[in-house]
Amino acid sequence: MRITALAGGIGGARFVRGLLRHLETVPVAPGAEPHRVTVIGNTADDVTMHGLRVCPDLDTLMYTLGGGVHEGQGWGRVDETFSVAAELKELGSEPSWFTLGDKDFATHIVRTRMLNHGYPLSRVTAALAERWKLPELGVELLPMTDDPVETHVVVGPPDDHPDDGPRAVHFQEWWVRMHAAVPARKILAVGIDKAEPAPGVLAAIRDADVVLLPPSNPVVSIGMVLAVPGVREAMRGTRAPVVGVSPIIGGSPVRGMADACLTAIGVETSAPAVAGLYADFLRGWLVAPEDDPRTTPARYAAGLSVRAVPLLMSDVDATAEIARQALELAESLR
Ligand code: GDP
Ligand code: CA
Repeated sequence: MRITALAGGIGGARFVRGLLRHLETVPVAPGAEPHRVTVIGNTADDVTMHGLRVCPDLDTLMYTLGGGVHEGQGWGRVDETFSVAAELKELGSEPSWFTLGDKDFATHIVRTRMLNHGYPLSRVTAALAERWKLPELGVELLPMTDDPVETHVVVGPPDDHPDDGPRAVHFQEWWVRMHAAVPARKILAVGIDKAEPAPGVLAAIRDADVVLLPPSNPVVSIGMVLAVPGVREAMRGTRAPVVGVSPIIGGSPVRGMADACLTAIGVETSAPAVAGLYADFLRGWLVAPEDDPRTTPARYAAGLSVRAVPLLMSDVDATAEIARQALELAESLR
């Protein structure tokens, strides 16, 4: 089976880890190729900090799938130390609100060196993914694009300076420093018009047996992958059934602040509203029992196959079951 998933960080990574666990139990037909999972990661969260290029979603995917993630946090490395960050702070080197551990720094140093030597991000990502043995797991990790794209958020003016007018900040500043508590007026994908899909991205969508949308942030994660010119068309054109997992359970984003992103684009925080963002290609939608179309008013598009199952990714086995349900739904649509 060739499975392609579009993914952000924590939600995407946890889902794909569950998918891999499930695939271990799916026999490969004699003579057939082993299961292959291609993950197309969001790179619009990327940011340069202390002169180093940081790709938070790709790193979360690598660390999670490779077994090196800090479980409680969902991002960053387990057993991490923070000597470099402490010294940078002593030196007054900003920003200090974005936590980078020592081991994490090593990733960003290697990435930045390779980028500075002219390697495209996709090659750099492949090299880093080897460190985490993703190829041995049957996983190919692709950035959505090799071109620089950054999500910027228009906020303000602050209440105490009403004359300042709005200003744009990097997504990370809004998300991490401001905890998305300052309402976003607009979410911009800077550089997206000129971005091209990274090598392999369109083929992975076109040639897949199943395309999955994990429960990633629909605006700043999946929305950015879809905004790379050509990707949305490929999603519409693929013969593979496209099945998504709702990141919203009963009106709440479970964890994180996806509701702030949805509000910014004028979309309700609900499972049907998120499905509506994918209406032009989505065929199957897994929702939580709270959002069951049989018990809640029919707010889903006609023709969309909606199935209600528990969607809390509480551990790897529970997540494997969600992935199994997604594949079963896809199979029923083939
Ligand atoms: P980020 O890049 O680290 O913010 O992660 P993603 O974009 O991949 O995913 C974040 C989204 O995952 C959040 O906005 C939540 O809506 C969703 N999410 C997190 N945990 C769960 C879970 O256990 N179940 C479901 N259904 N969604 C979840
Ligand atoms: Ca992210």
